Amino acid sequence: MRRGHVPVRTCIGCRKQRPKHDLLRLVSTENGLEIGDIEGRGFYLCRDVDCLVRAVKGGRMKRFLGRSLSDLESAALMRDVSGQNSLDGACGKGVICCSCTGGDPIA
Ligand SMILES: [Zn+2]
Repeated sequence: MRRGHVPVRTCIGCRKQRPKHDLLRLVSTENGLEIGDIEGRGFYLCRDVDCLVRAVKGGRMKRFLGRSLSDLESAALMRDVSGQNSLDGACGKGVICCSCTGGDPIA
């Protein structure tokens, strides 16, 4: 369902194609992980906590970035993603919890 020439990108979480402006562009820079149209190694993600969880758990985040996400970065990313969507974590607790990430809980 393409309308006109809306650029379409693929979310690495759910792997669905969406209009570019519906997705978050995440780029690994020397300052860390940044959101926005920045040059560099990056990927697209829905503004959906579910997609973030899938991208992290599936190892896709790591593959696209070429490195692992730090706890700080995952927490910040979590806030950015969930801040623009309903707070439904994979477990329904509103955040990525320890059982979702297999690591420490992120507040
Ligand atoms: Zn998605």
